[in-house]
Amino acid sequence: MDYTEGQGWHDARIVPYQPITLDPASMIFHYGQSVFEGLKAYVTKKEQVLLFRPDENFKRLNKSNDRLCIPHVDENLALEALKQLIKIDREWIPTAEGTSLYIRPFVIATEPYLGVAPSDRYQFIIILSPVGSYYKEGIAPVKIAVESEFVRAVAGGTGTAKTGGNYASSLKAQQLSDSKGYSQVLWLDGVERKYIEEVGSMNIFFKIDGEVVTPSVNGSILEGITRKSIIELLKHWDMPVTERRISMEEIKQAYSEGKLEEAFGTGTAAVISPIGELFWNNEKMVINDGNTGEVSQKLYDTLTGIQNGTVEDPFGWAVEVE
Ligand code: PMP
Repeated sequence: MDYTEGQGWHDARIVPYQPITLDPASMIFHYGQSVFEGLKAYVTKKEQVLLFRPDENFKRLNKSNDRLCIPHVDENLALEALKQLIKIDREWIPTAEGTSLYIRPFVIATEPYLGVAPSDRYQFIIILSPVGSYYKEGIAPVKIAVESEFVRAVAGGTGTAKTGGNYASSLKAQQLSDSKGYSQVLWLDGVERKYIEEVGSMNIFFKIDGEVVTPSVNGSILEGITRKSIIELLKHWDMPVTERRISMEEIKQAYSEGKLEEAFGTGTAAVISPIGELFWNNEKMVINDGNTGEVSQKLYDTLTGIQNGTVEDPFGWAVEVE
């Protein structure tokens, strides 16, 4: 679908996957005016196709659009277009356990203009791809390194928007942590390098002395849809969960006192990713003996069950593609 100033969004169309042609002066190539989303479709045992909270993704897309001066996309129209597209590509959705259809909606600025200003033309595109199971042999803890040099985002920047630039700024730290054998980095706040923000492509939770805590929404973390669902699920189970500022010092202290019971990342890709080891200031913290914690496992089983239709969904999160 295209956007032209004065005309609005127009020419919605479904075409076979193919390269697109853009003018080399298109603003997306120069000033990074782009936003994107990521969600998944799952096939149930009863052959239904389910999306997980897709309305949240399109809501977040428009929030990102606001920050990047991109005009809003009609959220209902986007969801209807996505459903049509999935129906056409139905046979591409893998059915083996843990597999899904990954969905990538995105908007790019297409006006050919070299001045720094919001574009007056855009393209909104949705592409799909079958994806394998995130965990080949069941849910398994990962090792995460705390990043103390580079920062991903600061409040007032573009951190809460799902925009390419935030991911570009994360590549260097990710490359360095990969080379040291860690799977993702844990970002700290950009001002004091003290407070925990989020993991490379996940939000983070800790279970400290019986209470689940996660960094509050602060203008720089991505407001994950899995994060939101986990908070709602824990509250539904009457389990204590708090959104607040959490410093690395506090985590270290809880660890030394034996009170750091679990840590896990949350996101569309892995759903729940238990953290077995946290590396900070040249020290390793091995959490829960490097094993998956009870709460992490229960959350994983429940959320994946709701997503693939094997667990009752009291929230109406799973949306059927008719
Ligand atoms: N933080 C970042 C930086 C991410 O890229 C993601 C993945 N979208 C998340 C958190 C988790 O968000 P969600 O639960 O919506 O996938």
